[in-house]
Amino acid sequence: MSPVLRINNLETILHTEAMPVRAVDGLTLQIMRGETFALLGESGCGKSMTALSVMRLLPDAGEIIGGSVRLGEEDLLLLPETAMRSIRGKRISMIFQEPMLSLNPVMTVADQIGEVLQRHFNLHGGVARKRIQEILDQVGIPDPSRRMEEYPFQFSGGMKQRMMIAMALAGEPELLIADEPTTALDVTIQAQVLDLMRSLQQRDGMTILLITHDLGVAAEIAHRVGIMYAGEIVETAPRDEFFRGPAHPYSRKLLASLPGRDRRRQGLRLAAISGNVPPLSREFSGCRFADRCDHAWELCHEVAPGWTSLAGEQQVRCHLFNQNPGSRVPQRQFED
Ligand code: SF4
Ligand code: MG
Repeated sequence: MSPVLRINNLETILHTEAMPVRAVDGLTLQIMRGETFALLGESGCGKSMTALSVMRLLPDAGEIIGGSVRLGEEDLLLLPETAMRSIRGKRISMIFQEPMLSLNPVMTVADQIGEVLQRHFNLHGGVARKRIQEILDQVGIPDPSRRMEEYPFQFSGGMKQRMMIAMALAGEPELLIADEPTTALDVTIQAQVLDLMRSLQQRDGMTILLITHDLGVAAEIAHRVGIMYAGEIVETAPRDEFFRGPAHPYSRKLLASLPGRDRRRQGLRLAAISGNVPPLSREFSGCRFADRCDHAWELCHEVAPGWTSLAGEQQVRCHLFNQNPGSRVPQRQFED
């Protein structure tokens, strides 16, 4: 498998009146072709800023100050905006929690998807209409030939979400970025939308970067997960290894806070754990989790931990492990 997306040492800051905030701070990540990678974390940890940095759609106050974002061989951060525009919606599509961010309320479904087909494939007229019907059918919108003439407000919440996915798929992207795609939906519709994403992914081998704060959603459709904390990733692992044996103390706390033994259910939001995420305007000398970690010792407050590879493909950024690589047994035993 080759990587579709390679993010290396990405640094994104947000300029605020007081001081710059390091929203994404040295993030490194590879996503393989055909893989669904879930970037998990509490709100404000930098997940969405990572996605917007990849798309180069940061808010005005945002600025990428370092690193690279490679899609195949191309470094997206070096491209002129015109080249980037032809990549968005074609090679990378993005869907959001709120469908109306991507849907135009005053255009019919046919016109909106038609615009994507025209821009990226030069499809017009009957050929385009046929393709629009196919795409709507693929995402499970019933009676496509009638519904394509309707406006977004005529669709229910779940159907709007499907329509947004249809728009995203119209460009046949190599990478789909889905930022909390099911958060606003009720549990039944959420399950349907996740099923849809999974089946599209299986059928087309699409690569998906899923951004979520919901462990249940990640457990449902991700192949691998990355846990983000205070602007950086602290653990990556294949899904099953992660849910069986999370390594980083933060990951362990997140999973321990879930009710019941069956963690692979939907609707399992990240429960609050004690203490606050440190302000990202602060200079960090040691581990960012040290103030909230039950296992912290002096070293943790002084030196930032590097990556340690555990058994399998699990990787963790924590001093507990880095004197004992290749093992699942941390140097200092967990009491929890
Ligand atoms: Fe806790 Fe130290 Fe590991 Fe950070 S490096 S998570 S403070 S044990
Ligand atoms: Mg977000």
